[in-house]
Amino acid sequence: MLRKFLTCLSLLLVMAFAATASAKPVELTGITAFDLNNSTVRIEISYSGGKLDPGNVSTELRNGLLRVELDNALPGRISRVSGTEIQADARDFVEKIIANKTQDKHTSIQIHFRAATGNNVKFSLEPANRSEKKSARLVLDVSKSFAAQDDDRTIFNGNSGQRIVVLDPGHGGSDWGAIGPTGVSEKSVSLAVSLKAQKLLTGAGYRVVMTRTTDVDVAAPGVPDAAELQARVNKAPPNADLFISVHCNAFSNGNANGMETYHAPTAVKGSRLARLLNEELARLGGLNNRGVKAARFYVMTHSQCPASLIELGFITNPREEQLLASGDYQQKLAQAITNAVNRYFNQGGY
Ligand SMILES: [Zn+2]
Repeated sequence: MLRKFLTCLSLLLVMAFAATASAKPVELTGITAFDLNNSTVRIEISYSGGKLDPGNVSTELRNGLLRVELDNALPGRISRVSGTEIQADARDFVEKIIANKTQDKHTSIQIHFRAATGNNVKFSLEPANRSEKKSARLVLDVSKSFAAQDDDRTIFNGNSGQRIVVLDPGHGGSDWGAIGPTGVSEKSVSLAVSLKAQKLLTGAGYRVVMTRTTDVDVAAPGVPDAAELQARVNKAPPNADLFISVHCNAFSNGNANGMETYHAPTAVKGSRLARLLNEELARLGGLNNRGVKAARFYVMTHSQCPASLIELGFITNPREEQLLASGDYQQKLAQAITNAVNRYFNQGGY
């Protein structure tokens, strides 16, 4: 299935290039980011040597990274060290801009934001304006909708409005959790995936609080379950925004399979979080989707912020045990968690 899809995709790309190969490429002359107003950052990509066709521009904004792909365009004098400018008023928002020639007559531009932004980017093509001494340019307006949410938090500005995500790798130390047929332990999978998610979320601008970062009991070995789980809940700072507990499922029958996510009964925000996690895990993890469920798990009912517990897959299923132990698959799961968190905070993330 996947291979067939990739083949189709590369065919489409080949066709796209063939269609634009004849026109003379434009040359980029500068990229500037500045603050347009309270809700928008503008990025202007100036060019010379012809006209950029709207069909040659594609954009994708995801996880705080805006990719702009320009066909029939050369980076010109723009390099890693020169040709781009982030004006002072936009520096809270834009971290860096990189432009590269990635293929013949094709330029990729990456605009890194300091945090995940809304999924709203509009572009327009402006002709040269002699009286304003402006060259022809591609204008991108990116909404700062990071925090324009259903709650009372302030608009994201630099690090002061940083969101706090608590990641709770299930089990640890004396508690191995479930163990797969070849000996892979739930405590190691939950930790590996959580550490990878910590990295991705931190990179996307979140403050991540881990209930554990090594193979330990969070309270102490041998304490009652409630004490261990309360110690995890207590790791969340009072202003934490989300709590996500990471687990693997287990069943006596090795055929049981699939992924599921949980929220506390009647928790409105928690159920939205669980739904977004479920959608992203279904998309990236690709396992049988057992759905979004309500349950009274301790960490969810005792968290002060919206919380979800995710079961990444069945560690007792031989195939899923191997997937859960693989670094590549763990990375996908971490990305799915990160995507869900981004969608949770982004206005258009429903
Ligand atoms: Zn567990």
